[in-house]
Amino acid sequence: MQTIPAKTIVTRTRSRWWFGTDYNMNLYRGCTHGCIYCDSRSSCYHNPDFDHIAVKENALAIVRDDLRRKVQRGVVATGAMSDPYNPLERKLGLTRHALELLSAYGFGVAVDTKSDLVSRDADVLSEIAAQMPALVKFSITTADPALAARLEPGAPSPERRFAAIEQLAKAGVFTGLLLMPVLPGLTDNRENLSRLLRQTAEAGGRFCYCWPGLTMREGQREYFYQALDREFPGLREKYEKRYGTRYRCTVPGAAKLYAWVREECSRLGLLSEMEAIIAVSRQGYDFGGLPGQASLFS
Ligand code: SF4
Repeated sequence: MQTIPAKTIVTRTRSRWWFGTDYNMNLYRGCTHGCIYCDSRSSCYHNPDFDHIAVKENALAIVRDDLRRKVQRGVVATGAMSDPYNPLERKLGLTRHALELLSAYGFGVAVDTKSDLVSRDADVLSEIAAQMPALVKFSITTADPALAARLEPGAPSPERRFAAIEQLAKAGVFTGLLLMPVLPGLTDNRENLSRLLRQTAEAGGRFCYCWPGLTMREGQREYFYQALDREFPGLREKYEKRYGTRYRCTVPGAAKLYAWVREECSRLGLLSEMEAIIAVSRQGYDFGGLPGQASLFS
């Protein structure tokens, strides 16, 4: 197992616009879920070995020290650059122990994941939810397991992710769907999106945040196009013609599709606006000073 040095792990976010999060935390570097569209493999992040997972050295001691030094409690995001529930986490339990620290020091959490392994930690997430927001956003791009296996070959199936939504919702965790990317010509059809929204609502999910497109940067684009050539011959040329080297690649008819997704969400009782998701997830919590006692790992 490769390790990498780190001085600090829990860092301040620039703003709260993304699910109301105040801090960021990445315990791992790299990911083995193999999503063909993954932004984190872009050259700007300087990680050519993205498909191998490295662990931050002394991660838990650093997280504990970072949390101790914070003068303001808040919600800590995890999963922006690599999946905190990668297969190694099953053995190492780093994310689980970091959640225990967040709970002990009175912080909330917002997890991004494609893995049902997060449901293993329903107990700790539920403990956090008793005092601060605990959000789990599941990234699911298609409800079709065969298509998912081609788009996200190393990630658990969509069914397993929906089952995890159900389990976490029952444990009182604020959970839902992160519907992005939406891949032109692959997952942007209404039948697929409709299934995703319905299954999220049926599982007890509270929200769906959608952005109808994908972003493409250097490094990520080349990897994605190679995968298209292999898995979906002929599609790359359509992407190249339509998007060139554009960063934000929205699906054809994006505005109309987005409006339709919002209507569907409203019909199914799912929140879809970021402001509303943030407001509801933070409702009833006291974001005052730090708790007097935080004994775990101290
Ligand atoms: S799970 Fe997330 S970080 Fe991992 S490959 Fe997929 S998109 Fe990238």
